[in-house]
Amino acid sequence: MTQYVYRFGGGVSDGGRGDRNLLGGKGSNLAEMASIGLPVPPGFTISTAMCARYYDEGEAFPDSLRQEVAQGLAHIEQVTGKRFGDPADPLLVSVRSGARVSMPGMMDTVLNLGLNDETVEGLATTSGDPRFAWDSYRRFIQMYADVVLDLDHGSFEEALEVAKEDRGFTLDTELSADDLRELVAEYKGLVDQQWGRPFPQGVHDQLWGAVGAVFGSWQSDRAKVYRRLNDIPADWGTAVNIQAMVFGNMGETSATGVAFTRDPAKGDRAYYGEFLINAQGEDVVAGIRTPQYLTAKARADAGAKPASMEEAMPEVYGELAAVFDTLERHYRDMQDIEFTVERGTLWMLQTRSGKRTAKAALKIAVDMAEEGLITRDEAVLRVDAQALDQLLHPTLDPKAHRDVLTKGLPASPGAASGAAVFDADTAEKRSAAGEAVILVRTETSPEDIHGMHAARGILTARGGMTSHAAVVARGMGRPCVSGAGALSIDLKARIMRVGGREVAEGDLLTIDGASGEVMLGSVATVEPELSGDFGALMEWADAARRMKVRCNAETPADCRTARGFGAEGIGLCRTEHMFFDAARITAVRQMILASDEAGRRTALAKLLPEQRADFAEIFEVMAGLPCTIRLLDPPLHEFLPTEEADFADVAEAAGVAVEVLKRRAAELHEFNPMLGHRGCRLGVTYPEIYEMQARAIFEAALDVAEKSGDAPIPEVMIPLVATARELDLMKAVVDRVAEQVFTERGRRLEYLVGTMIELPRAALRAGDIAHGAEFFSFGTNDLTQTTLGVSRDDAARFLGEYVEQGIYARDPFVSLDVEGVGELVSIAAERGRATRPDLKLGICGEHGGDPASIDFCEGVRLDYVSASPYRVPIARLAAAQAALRR
Ligand code: PEP
Ligand code: MG
Repeated sequence: MTQYVYRFGGGVSDGGRGDRNLLGGKGSNLAEMASIGLPVPPGFTISTAMCARYYDEGEAFPDSLRQEVAQGLAHIEQVTGKRFGDPADPLLVSVRSGARVSMPGMMDTVLNLGLNDETVEGLATTSGDPRFAWDSYRRFIQMYADVVLDLDHGSFEEALEVAKEDRGFTLDTELSADDLRELVAEYKGLVDQQWGRPFPQGVHDQLWGAVGAVFGSWQSDRAKVYRRLNDIPADWGTAVNIQAMVFGNMGETSATGVAFTRDPAKGDRAYYGEFLINAQGEDVVAGIRTPQYLTAKARADAGAKPASMEEAMPEVYGELAAVFDTLERHYRDMQDIEFTVERGTLWMLQTRSGKRTAKAALKIAVDMAEEGLITRDEAVLRVDAQALDQLLHPTLDPKAHRDVLTKGLPASPGAASGAAVFDADTAEKRSAAGEAVILVRTETSPEDIHGMHAARGILTARGGMTSHAAVVARGMGRPCVSGAGALSIDLKARIMRVGGREVAEGDLLTIDGASGEVMLGSVATVEPELSGDFGALMEWADAARRMKVRCNAETPADCRTARGFGAEGIGLCRTEHMFFDAARITAVRQMILASDEAGRRTALAKLLPEQRADFAEIFEVMAGLPCTIRLLDPPLHEFLPTEEADFADVAEAAGVAVEVLKRRAAELHEFNPMLGHRGCRLGVTYPEIYEMQARAIFEAALDVAEKSGDAPIPEVMIPLVATARELDLMKAVVDRVAEQVFTERGRRLEYLVGTMIELPRAALRAGDIAHGAEFFSFGTNDLTQTTLGVSRDDAARFLGEYVEQGIYARDPFVSLDVEGVGELVSIAAERGRATRPDLKLGICGEHGGDPASIDFCEGVRLDYVSASPYRVPIARLAAAQAALRR
């Protein structure tokens, strides 16, 4: 029989050191903390395997689970000496979700479970605090009604507000035990009214309801969105953790808090966190009360008045600090912790590797390697390559004028400007229409996640550094300022008020997630400068990596940026992109639209000097590094004129009538331009185009060699080849022009001719093609399009749904379809190398900047990957990680 229940605490850990896949992140860490002797309230975990079975069996539980849960409860009862449902001294439990990876705020939790009309009296007696007992019952009904019964939680909040108003109170804590008893009666009435049945009094009914709700929350809309944004497979499921309650709200010697063993925003080696005296955990995370600092230094630095935990509870703080150190040494990583102090006793509720900004990840990895806690290779593996993106974000120009409206917490780094919008749907709508927006909310909740994703930045009035907005924004790499308490939002008037000023929806705002400043208008930004930690980690990565990293670039500026980021050559210079500016595109159009060779040659003659000058500049920047230049590959529809004015320009340049041109354009119309007259098909039909380009390349290379001595090594690349014959014909053109130019100039130059592999036929016939090719570059954009039979330009309409339904795990144009396209890449690499053992292999599709795809490239032993300039550091790190994993 499969075991589904794993006990922990009180000297027991059925799950041993914890298995994350089986017990989920929270459950496996509880098991692990219990196994190393840390104070963990006793409990048990229902494994993730049960979640899958629950859904397979039509959302029902097998009988065997009921027996196992009974044993789990018996374990908690035995350790705590309390009994579940005992009217005299009741055991209360929490029921929490816990997937393999943390999904902050996405899934459900129920606290104080086990309270009913009888046990609440027992709790009042044993705690000696009737107010606490009735407040716990009140909270429990409210949470249960929301999470398990799915009732309107607004009506419960309203009842609470009315209860306070009626009595002239402003704080929840002013309500007495009797007030709360009355409120409980009202809550039960609300349940009756909305659910049509009384609030469940049976504690076992309560428990099974909560377990079902936690499993159910795995398929909630917000959890689905979060999974999609974070590439979490739907079949992982969640575990359920049932654990004895401990109370942080039992008076002034009780408290609850969250902490990080190092600063999760900057990475500094300092305990970092927030706590609240006389509160439950949800109060800290929900951002309803503004929490107090953990350390005296943090409090002093912030100029805050309320005592830090270090000052208010020095003894327990000391114990907590010792636990932090134990945990860091044990896990060898920065930990994110939840704890509760119940009447002076410390309990650990959770630990997990802390989410951190890219900046902190980098600093922590480098520091830990330097502290000797981890090796340099481990440090390289610790930093999420994709997250480096965040370090490359712009910051505010220090010289730019700032009209600072207010200041909040610096919750997630980066600066962003955009129109202020006050709800997530508006953020999504306006951003889809191309507008940059800043999402401004009183506080965010998981329902806002689509708006947070759509926004350039996020600003909230409430909530600390561990609030939902802060955690989620950090994970997404969005700049975020949280807890800007001076601002209030009037949702009806669509106005935000701050310090006597008003900002209407749509007005421009700038936020600086590094300082917490909120500014009116759009403030200029500067490109990031990379820190010493970045340099150190990149150096360690470079030492570990085997593949080279090149860039996809076609302007000198992009080449410079890419070299600054460590590019070791150009992997793809798309020559047609060099013609995007207005003056040149006319000549390109003239060439495309010419009805004969003479017409084309006239246009090409205009392009030659431009092209030669561009190449020369690029060769100079790249200073002797290899440069792969792809000959023209324009899918015609991208270049044909559509506007009346464009036709007029081309007609004037070509000296023909507009009407003639229009007729010609109509003739050139293609039904499937991506499969049409493009790539080497252009070179085969109009070899003069490739002749001109080859001439520009060799003349430019010789110019630079003569001037600077750094002779470039051009790698001339033929696009969209399907057959060996196509390549042979085009190579003959290139070689002929090379000889002509070398003879004219009296100087030779090393160069290579190779091809892109972007069609399935080319991959399969790679053995023949390699006779004529000195290198292959996998054009996985087209190879994906042609292998899947999915148009690059039309995929967006349905691919999202495909990913949603698990047909492809990720968008195959973002992350390589390893099973399909990947197999063609392996076949081509193998067959190509069989013909020509020193065949140089690289990838230049968008996948060259995607860490998972880079890992695949290491597996088939490509020589290099090529990525857009800002992704070069990501590719360097990902290539190192791929090498280290093998
Ligand atoms: C490719 O197809 O992968 C490629 C790099 O070429 P392009 O994106 O220009 O078609
Ligand atoms: Mg292509």
